[in-house]
Amino acid sequence: MSTNQSAANHRFGDTIPPLLYEISRSGRRAVRLPESDVPSTRLPAELLRDDHDELRLPEVSEQDVVRHFTRLSHANMAIDTTFYPLGSCTMKYNPKVNEAVASHSGFASHHPLATTDDSQGSLAVMYRLQHMLAEIAGFSQVSLQPAAGAQGELTGILMIRAYHESRGDTRRRKILVPDSAHGTNPATVTMAGYEAVEIPSDAEGNVDLGALREACGDDVAGLMITNPNTAGLFERNIEAVVDAVHGCGGLVYGDGANFNAILGIVRPGDLGIDVMHFNLHKTFSTPHGGGGPGAGPVGANETLADFLPGPIVGMSQPSPDASDDGSDDSRYEFVSPAQSIGRLRSFHGNFGMLLRAYAYILLHGADGLRAISENAVINANYLRHLTRDVFPAKFDRTCMHEFVSVGSRYEGVSTMDIAKRLLDYGYHAPTVYFPLIVKDALMVEPTESENRETLELFAEALALVAREAGNDPDLLHEAPLTTPRRRLDEVAAVRNLVLRYEPV
Ligand SMILES: *Cc1c(COP(=O)(O)O)cnc(C)c1O
Repeated sequence: MSTNQSAANHRFGDTIPPLLYEISRSGRRAVRLPESDVPSTRLPAELLRDDHDELRLPEVSEQDVVRHFTRLSHANMAIDTTFYPLGSCTMKYNPKVNEAVASHSGFASHHPLATTDDSQGSLAVMYRLQHMLAEIAGFSQVSLQPAAGAQGELTGILMIRAYHESRGDTRRRKILVPDSAHGTNPATVTMAGYEAVEIPSDAEGNVDLGALREACGDDVAGLMITNPNTAGLFERNIEAVVDAVHGCGGLVYGDGANFNAILGIVRPGDLGIDVMHFNLHKTFSTPHGGGGPGAGPVGANETLADFLPGPIVGMSQPSPDASDDGSDDSRYEFVSPAQSIGRLRSFHGNFGMLLRAYAYILLHGADGLRAISENAVINANYLRHLTRDVFPAKFDRTCMHEFVSVGSRYEGVSTMDIAKRLLDYGYHAPTVYFPLIVKDALMVEPTESENRETLELFAEALALVAREAGNDPDLLHEAPLTTPRRRLDEVAAVRNLVLRYEPV
């Protein structure tokens, strides 16, 4: 423990005693096994480690290890401990009932190689979820396979490619991507073997229609568009955008990451979007962050449904009195769409995430889903209003579920300084420096799951930070002051990423 640490100046982040890693002491054990009462036998030599004397596993008591990991978990910010307005990520509350459903042993212990006969319950859930998502977004079919939004994007663009190839149309080399797009969009285009062509935004934050029409031609395979876009604005000309792309023979990919703003209000399929991914870990409240599993199901209209990755779940032999919700003795099985691009993911996707999303949709019902989006939009606009004097939104328009301000409006203080100082006030920082079309962006997404008091307290914290920025810029350069780790060297962290602890 360093000498300047005392209980008097203890703050959240000063762990007393400090978080230590070298807690191993020879001979300490968490578990003591009883003497074996069965005959022992030697393992075959080829299965033995040569260096079995040097396993170098930490030796700790059960209490040591519980404390270590519990304290580590408290060193992080989490949606269960604090407001987490990370724009573009939809860090909403994940209801615990989802966890209860996903950990039910009938699901959690079910083996992915079990036979179709033994998997009817799990298949029924997948079938129903496919149909719910298709209905909610206005598509004719959904594949649950992709494991994340970015993988859903790749799926969709590969489907668009397969569609053009199936028609013998091989001239099309370009995919149009608005300059407000998430970085995964141009990356996806490149991975799928296409050339990404950037389309500028207009002064209102929408796609520049003139530039789009000029870029459309018979070498364009499609367009990727996010609506509401990454500035949190509804693309007002979406129908004209879709028409322009369809007019030159291209197809339209919808990046569905911002679906939380329009549930039950607008269906992307009805707007003419041909294929779209859902981020179950954003819109449908499955946990995310920390590189954990996500799920990025893909929905397609009639033009593209046959190209979806397979297998998907179909219902065969519906009993004579079958109802479509499978509440009878219908039989489910895996089927492959006619012109499927093949598998994108082993087994059946991240099934635990599918269960959570299914539970969440059932919990809310149709009206509840619409209320989610209405409240997400109201919360964002209320917060935009509360913070308009200190960090005004870049685009002076009603926003959807999030809004973007400029974090660098105070002399000598950067967006990063503002974000880091918010940690000292106990909040996770908003997204910074994205979207790229707003210089020094500070992107705030409160989600529907926050109450009015939380929004007002956060606005107050932003106002306090703004005042500090004016009076004491050095304080902000130093921030965060109260977290277990201070400001990290992010460049070094990326270049020299150490993910595994090695004992000394
Ligand atoms: C989050 C996000 C993605 C990527 O989703 P992942 O699940 O993180 O791969 C794509 N586009 C937008 C606009 C996003 O916000």
